[in-house]
Amino acid sequence: MKDLEQTKVAIVDIARRMWREGLVRGTAGNISCVFRNLNVMLITPTGVDYERLLPEHISVVDLDGRPIGGLSPSSETFMHLGIYKKRSDVNTVVHTHSQFAAVLSILGHEIPSVHYMVALFGGDKISLTTTYQLYGSQELAMETVKGLGEQYYGIILRNHGAVAVGDKLSTAYSRAVVLEEMATLYYYVLATGQPNLLTHVQMDEMKAKLGTYGLSNGLALADEG
Ligand SMILES: [Zn+2]
Repeated sequence: MKDLEQTKVAIVDIARRMWREGLVRGTAGNISCVFRNLNVMLITPTGVDYERLLPEHISVVDLDGRPIGGLSPSSETFMHLGIYKKRSDVNTVVHTHSQFAAVLSILGHEIPSVHYMVALFGGDKISLTTTYQLYGSQELAMETVKGLGEQYYGIILRNHGAVAVGDKLSTAYSRAVVLEEMATLYYYVLATGQPNLLTHVQMDEMKAKLGTYGLSNGLALADEG
């Protein structure tokens, strides 16, 4: 596992990429990585432009959310910590306000099995939180944790944005990109016609392929396929 300082650099790289690629605007969105063995989470700070973000700005908090170093942590610190408490398979959380995921979040749509890449999120759909909750609140943290459950690797937050998770930073970020791609496809489908959904059997077939090749290869495979 990379050490804390290397991970701060990696978080800054991904955070800038997330901003450059338009998954967030202004200072919205946040990224974290957990180090359970050190009782520490690294998270992007609140209110710093991605253009100016430096590794030394990354906030260090303990797993109860108490600041240890860096700038003041993101307002969604509770949400990130809540996910890590529930999901031992998750080491990274990427929260975006990507445009089409946000549009679907406002329409109140989850993303059904419109494409085989939906399987990268652990089921036959990318689900939606049950209720809207204020940003930064314990209630939003609880809704997000509940929606992800034991199974899912991404979720749309009602009237807000999206969350993607993974065992490592590159995987969680790739999922955030794919989530927005799926949201974009589904938005255009809703605007123009009726989707032909993949069946549960077809989605299981894709999940079995991912199980064989692993997620990172699954993402590569999806690039090829
Ligand atoms: Zn947000």
